[in-house]
Amino acid sequence: MSEASFVAGCGLGALNTWGCGGSCRWLASPKDASEAAIFIKKAADEGTGLYILGGGSNILVQDGFIDAGVISTGAMDEFEVYAAEGGARIEAAAGVPVKKLLALSLEKGLTGMEFLTGIPGTFGGALFGNAGAAGCSFAPLVEWAETISFDGSHRRWRAEELLWKYRTCPWGGNSLLITKASLRLRSGSREEITENIRRFSALKKGQPIGAKTAGCVFKNPEGNSAGRLLDVCGCKKLSVGAARVSQNHANFIENSGGASAADIYALTEMCRKRVYEEYGIVLEYEIKFFGAF
Ligand SMILES: Cc1cc2nc3c(=O)[nH]c(=O)nc-3n(C[C@H](O)[C@H](O)[C@H](O)COP(=O)(O)OP(=O)(O)OC[C@H]3O[C@@H](n4cnc5c(N)ncnc54)[C@H](O)[C@@H]3O)c2cc1C
Repeated sequence: MSEASFVAGCGLGALNTWGCGGSCRWLASPKDASEAAIFIKKAADEGTGLYILGGGSNILVQDGFIDAGVISTGAMDEFEVYAAEGGARIEAAAGVPVKKLLALSLEKGLTGMEFLTGIPGTFGGALFGNAGAAGCSFAPLVEWAETISFDGSHRRWRAEELLWKYRTCPWGGNSLLITKASLRLRSGSREEITENIRRFSALKKGQPIGAKTAGCVFKNPEGNSAGRLLDVCGCKKLSVGAARVSQNHANFIENSGGASAADIYALTEMCRKRVYEEYGIVLEYEIKFFGAF
């Protein structure tokens, strides 16, 4: 095992897009599933918590010390493209950036992943959160996915075993590492793919660009828009310390400089309370939490 793949007592603030939060017991960056399995066992042997970190673009990390190991998937970045009838299959490891997958689809003339336009993060993180836009996600494209549970068991899941829901993967909470998955894509013309990218890019207008955010904080309640509810409740006027609700889109919270995770969390709860008091709707978090809140 290379020394670079393991850091004891590692700060996580630089590893997430909100740019805040404390440190963990250790951070490991395995190159593949067999290396990752070693660190999953290490966490189990130590009896501490374990978190899986992708691009850090949808998480809030607790301030201070988190007595848990963190496995970063960044070095698990291999992928292969195989010809298949009417298109191709892409087998990709968890840490492949979704931007790379989108660029690959354009380069190879494969359609189906244009929804990734403007979404940061990794393939594994997108699968775990069932990330997407306008009703599109990886869900219908996945042929199989491989996981290692925190109890050490390895498994390959076939498409028909995977029940995807809006912003929810088939595996639920923080209990496994998605190591790899295979996608089935159909051939498309460059014009079609470019037009789809333009269409998804237009949907991103109105989101804060360049600010430190973690994407949408809350899931849309069925038949409603969390952003709209937050907006009509006056949440755009709210802030806690350097954490403030975006003026562009009320479902985004910006770290305008030096916000702590506690500031951000207090603001999210304030927003949730407003929507509950006004509409009786309990907004469900889309972001995931590392540590205790
Ligand atoms: C500017 C901006 C725009 C965004 N736009 C969108 C959008 O349009 N649609 C959308 O859905 N999201 C959007 N997001 C949110 C985010 O980019 C996505 O949810 C992304 O898929 C998260 O991937 P990640 O690698 O950064 O995951 P992380 O933030 O690192 O992790 C998110 C969760 O996934 C878990 N996880 C990560 N990798 C794995 C793995 N291999 N196995 C098991 N669990 C894993 C983590 O433990 C954590 O619980 C946006 C975020 C930003 C900052």
